[in-house]
Amino acid sequence: MYKKIKGTEDIYGKDIKYWYYIEKVARETVRLYGYHEIRTPIFEQTELFVRSVGKETDIVQKEMYTFEDKGGRSITLRPEGTAPTIRAFVENSMVATGLPKRLFYIGPMFRYERPQLGRQRQFHQFGIELIGSSSPLADTEVILIADKFMKKLGLVDYEIIINSLGCEKDRQEYKKALKEYYANILDKVCDDCKKRYNTNVLRLLDCKIDVNYAKNAPKITDFLCDDCRKHYQETKSILEELEIKYKEEPRLVRGLDYYNGVIFEIHHGKLGAQSAVGGGGRYDKLVKELGGPNTPSLGFAMGIERLIIALKNENVPIKEVKNNEIYVAHLGEKARVVALEISEELRENSISVVYNTMERGLSAQLKHAARLKCKLCIIVGENELERDVVVLRNLETGDQVEIERDFIAGTAKEWLSES
Ligand code: ATP
Ligand code: MG
Repeated sequence: MYKKIKGTEDIYGKDIKYWYYIEKVARETVRLYGYHEIRTPIFEQTELFVRSVGKETDIVQKEMYTFEDKGGRSITLRPEGTAPTIRAFVENSMVATGLPKRLFYIGPMFRYERPQLGRQRQFHQFGIELIGSSSPLADTEVILIADKFMKKLGLVDYEIIINSLGCEKDRQEYKKALKEYYANILDKVCDDCKKRYNTNVLRLLDCKIDVNYAKNAPKITDFLCDDCRKHYQETKSILEELEIKYKEEPRLVRGLDYYNGVIFEIHHGKLGAQSAVGGGGRYDKLVKELGGPNTPSLGFAMGIERLIIALKNENVPIKEVKNNEIYVAHLGEKARVVALEISEELRENSISVVYNTMERGLSAQLKHAARLKCKLCIIVGENELERDVVVLRNLETGDQVEIERDFIAGTAKEWLSES
């Protein structure tokens, strides 16, 4: 027997309704804001992620699924959705259709991480990108959409955390201060952080092990230049006017190097250690870095698996997908094609019908219908056919009637709406 790869999941059965629900709410939410879907390939040239996500990030250093294809090219399964989206934006000259460009994506991402609740090697993200605006109006739109999406999902126990990473110059000053701070405690931090100290000192704030040291570290907000401070301030005051609740976290950094300016995360209260359901922010230099024109942009990504855990933990009721509504059983040679015609007629009426495709007796068919949790069963027998009737049975109550051929769909619909 073959087993699935560690850190991957088969998604089926009772969980499927959550996937339909989240995808539907996601599509509907971003449609209202004028975003259009983009579906990029699952794999890309490795260099794309090294360039954009950053050579010294955990993602590039440890988490990428990279392999050589038969043509000797280095290929990587996408670990995130922004770099491919921007690659597509540049490659397809989307700038020609006017800025800002509003795009969204939904799909699987791949990171070689230690699997645990809310952390997998193949996981799924829903994300948006607002490409081509440097205004705080863009920052607030993106945060507003993230908040609206959470609300539309029916979630309440979440918090939006924001910060500003400033511009390159601000960060250089800030990194100096961080280095000074960590220099004194370098022997106490984890081995990864010892390395990060030299390669990517911001990452020390993001360490999942050394959380306590980060708490007393200098704050980037003390190092922001006038422009970055103003941008951050305007973003916050618009959010306040819209009554979108947020919390400032001056030590929030993101795990990818392309971010600058306003960044944010959404944390859920009932997720335990993996509390971030989503995150995002500005990446003003990325489009240029990937060969496009200078195009300030931002976006967010939400983790669908974690959203499902949040929905379950908050007991948000999710409508069942209508399926297996009616079982159509049949007896005898002549009945089987008539039963198939009746099934098709019901399907024309948007009813989900399971037609018996096995050579088996009535009791086996009824047993199967019960197993599938069909609400109703239509039994087409040769004797009844001579009188042009079939039997309609309510499998939950056991009630049954004979109905004339012409009235099957109408009566079935009535019975379904009553049950
Ligand atoms: P974390 O701090 O949890 O590692 P991250 O900062 O690496 O998250 P992002 O790259 O910002 O995550 O991705 C956005 C969202 O995607 C996360 O908030 C999370 O919900 C989800 N996500 C990221 N990595 C995983 C994973 N390995 N398994 C499941 N979901 C993930
Ligand atoms: Mg991570």
